[in-house]
Amino acid sequence: MKNLINFFKRFLMLELFQGLSVTGKYFFARHITVEYPDEKTPQGSRFRGLHAQRRYPNGEERCIACKLCEAVCPALAIKIEVAEREDGSRRTTQYDIDLTKCIFCGFCEESCPVDAIVETRIFEYHGENRGDLYYTKDRLLAVGDANEAQIAQDRAADAKYR
Ligand code: SF4
Ligand code: SF4
Repeated sequence: MKNLINFFKRFLMLELFQGLSVTGKYFFARHITVEYPDEKTPQGSRFRGLHAQRRYPNGEERCIACKLCEAVCPALAIKIEVAEREDGSRRTTQYDIDLTKCIFCGFCEESCPVDAIVETRIFEYHGENRGDLYYTKDRLLAVGDANEAQIAQDRAADAKYR
């Protein structure tokens, strides 16, 4: 009897139609695959992408060289050198992030008392040489300058949770 059932199953190609029914079901269902880069998924305001250093509206850099971010970084990716200005304020003379070490945990951003170091929504960047992913202070400030509007908007959206 079992052999007879199997014969009819094969003869009527039931398994083929079972498989095709799954294909048909997903063919007409809502598509969840995103056609990147033409389509992109939504990003949250806490997206942890490329780092940036921010300035105040008067152009002064926010960072006060407290070194908290360097101390908290679990990947030892941040290197800071500090000097005192003539007016007694502390500022970094060197602020580098090695993105080949960074694990994008966001601890640096969370530890910063003045919202100077932040992670932006930028994720489409690459390096062809190791040095390309070594972000110096000038490069970080340039990222911040170019994206300050979005950064400020994201910080404002998140302010009540911090
Ligand atoms: S995101 Fe994390 S690993 Fe990367 S630099 Fe900041 S603290 Fe270090
Ligand atoms: S980026 Fe923030 S936490 Fe890091 S040294 Fe500057 S002020 Fe301190």
